[in-house]
Amino acid sequence: MLYIDTEYAPEICSLCKGAEHTEDRSCKACGGSGTVLVAQPARNCPLCSGAGCLGTEICRACGGSGWALF
Ligand SMILES: [Zn+2]
Ligand SMILES: [Zn+2]
Repeated sequence: MLYIDTEYAPEICSLCKGAEHTEDRSCKACGGSGTVLVAQPARNCPLCSGAGCLGTEICRACGGSGWALF
């Protein structure tokens, strides 16, 4: 079977620290699931270095997940 080269795997959302049972289901990075699908091998977002935010603003490069999406 053929697949595209890029594989995706769930990684912990940096914005909510992977809190699956947080009452805040509005996490903009993962939608409250606690994980985000990241292209493997997973790399930290180059803009926020994996923090998921820049100061008080959500990192625009990764949407807050803290992972490089591409
Ligand atoms: Zn999250
Ligand atoms: Zn980022």
